[in-house]
Amino acid sequence: DATIYYDDDADSTYLDDTTVAVLGYGSQGHAHAQNLNDSGVDVVVGLRKGSSSRKAAKADGLDVLTPVKAAAQAEVVSILVPDTVQATVYDQIKDELDEGDTLQFAHGFNIHYSQIEPRDDIDVTLVAPKSPGHLVRRNYEADEGTPGLVAVYQDVTGDAKERALAYAKGIGCTRAGTIETTFREETETDLFGEQAVLCGGVTSLVKQAYETLVEAGYSEEMAYFECMNELKLIVDLMYEGGLSEMWDSVSDTAEYGGLTRGDRVVDEHAREQMEQVLEEVQDGTFARQWILENQAGRPGYNQIRDAEKNHEIEAVGKELRGLFSWADEE
Ligand code: NDP
Ligand code: MG
Ligand code: MG
Repeated sequence: DATIYYDDDADSTYLDDTTVAVLGYGSQGHAHAQNLNDSGVDVVVGLRKGSSSRKAAKADGLDVLTPVKAAAQAEVVSILVPDTVQATVYDQIKDELDEGDTLQFAHGFNIHYSQIEPRDDIDVTLVAPKSPGHLVRRNYEADEGTPGLVAVYQDVTGDAKERALAYAKGIGCTRAGTIETTFREETETDLFGEQAVLCGGVTSLVKQAYETLVEAGYSEEMAYFECMNELKLIVDLMYEGGLSEMWDSVSDTAEYGGLTRGDRVVDEHAREQMEQVLEEVQDGTFARQWILENQAGRPGYNQIRDAEKNHEIEAVGKELRGLFSWADEE
């Protein structure tokens, strides 16, 4: 079974007399930087000149330097820029690290797929909240935690794991529980999860069900509510009490229909595709495709992104969310 660490297992003193440079102030960066700072850790934010995030970081009361200067000051450098630019940013800052410093990640992609080959005289660790950054910040402010992962890729000081756990504590992850893993396991399960279920699988399910109803002559509004809006309520029940709480809460009719039809919709074909998708993650096919896509200026990515934005369900949803008052659009 996996080892799970809580606040009592993490020793904050491993970040005493330590400056953490948080490179990037986006989804994860703003949360890590502010949570660490509020936990009493010395934080400096690293952003490139003219960065659109500078204003926000300064408004939040943090010191902002360039990535190079921030890394030079720090003993722990947290790489929280997009995965696609991390290798470039690492090249810019690698000579600023001192022996025994820590290179810290929130996702293992660049290390696992060898886009960054870290210096061999530094620690390399991972603390990955299993949540979008704004929730990492919101939970912390509410005295709650965010579940996370911790992993060590390289330990030259002998303290890599202790430092990573202190970092996890500083951002609030050990309040909820932080699972010990490896860069490989984190990277491959994270990519698979977002492709098969969280981002890919679920949006395809919603779109195809919506299209099925609309093409059969039902109204767009009905299709939106049934296939997209209600999904949140179902997921909330699963989140709170597992599948059983969800099945207990819906009608017997819904339970019987769901149990007899669900596996027909997501059937063996879907399962085979999942296995294929996992294989492409494991053998590096996906990573290669994504790296090449970026090198080419993202032509395919931009095209499918636009198509997704222009899906009918988006226009319908926008209008409906504006007409009803249950959802505050952020
Ligand atoms: P974001 O896309 O939110 O990061 C944007 C930040 O990076 C901005 O401050 C931006 O500043 C800066 N940035 C972008 N390009 C550069 C560059 N070339 N040089 C310097 N700074 C740059 O990243 P995320 O927070 O989404 O992801 C960070 C890491 O966290 C990734 O490894 C990701 O996989 C991981 N992660 C993300 C999660 C999430 O929910 N988003 C969840 C768990 C892990 P500028 O204004 O200059 O562009
Ligand atoms: Mg991910
Ligand atoms: Mg119903």
